[in-house]
Amino acid sequence: MPSFVEQAEPGSVFSLLADENRVGILRALWQTEDPLSFSELHSAVDIKDSGQFNYHLDKLAGQFVQKTAGGYSLTEPGRQINGAIDGGTYTAAGSMEPIQLDPPCPTCGGQRTLTYEDERLRVECDSCDVVAAFGVPPAVFAGRAREEIPAVAGRYLRAELARLENGFCPYCGGHIECRVGLPSPPPGESLSGVDESFPIVRYDCQQCITEPTSGLTLALFSHPAVVAFYHDHGIDIRERSVWEFPVFAGESERIESEEPLRASTTFTVNGDELTLTVDEHLSVVAGE
Ligand SMILES: [Zn+2]
Ligand SMILES: [Zn+2]
Repeated sequence: MPSFVEQAEPGSVFSLLADENRVGILRALWQTEDPLSFSELHSAVDIKDSGQFNYHLDKLAGQFVQKTAGGYSLTEPGRQINGAIDGGTYTAAGSMEPIQLDPPCPTCGGQRTLTYEDERLRVECDSCDVVAAFGVPPAVFAGRAREEIPAVAGRYLRAELARLENGFCPYCGGHIECRVGLPSPPPGESLSGVDESFPIVRYDCQQCITEPTSGLTLALFSHPAVVAFYHDHGIDIRERSVWEFPVFAGESERIESEEPLRASTTFTVNGDELTLTVDEHLSVVAGE
């Protein structure tokens, strides 16, 4: 098993970035494909004093910047920091006017509204308690027309689900373990307008505390049997909006048995049905 060793205190690493001159050095290295020599890098940043420049470069060296025979370049963490800056996660304030979603809520038939605030996207229904909420960096929506937003948000959600299905945490990249079970609303709370015996899929990160959830239908969206079922009907499921499918608690999502756990969901195209039954690990154990 590969070992994973904490090499530095997170606080001391992030404090290295608490200086505009150093961020300027990282940004300059991000703009170029080839490594830069000391003097090339110095002339690419806005620090006149070469002693000052040297001091700041030295602080970044080893952690965010590396020096090779060809010159200075970014380390992988240095690239990640630049990506986060360009994505706007830490620096941009993303928000937009609420958007009404076209397809009705697949749980109750109500009207749903998409909102985006504080880098979180929410799709809420006006007549039941089903909510989809997930983090989206502002860059995802940069340059997009308002009418494109629901489709872009849906594709981003699908990409995040694919990442989880492949076993990677969207926050830390750690290993995800998947469990199917019943929803567990906080004690004293209930989901109004929703039958609470629907199956829920929990993606439990083994590295950090993240535990995203999805409904069974979305969790099986890219299962080969589902892709083939749609393909046989002349439909490329990748072109269907996820908002046509239930986020949670779709009418067709059922717990079949609790011991052992069996849950199923049904996909319908032109009157034909595909029902997949899964076990607690989301492995498909039956399809018809
Ligand atoms: Zn609803
Ligand atoms: Zn994680």
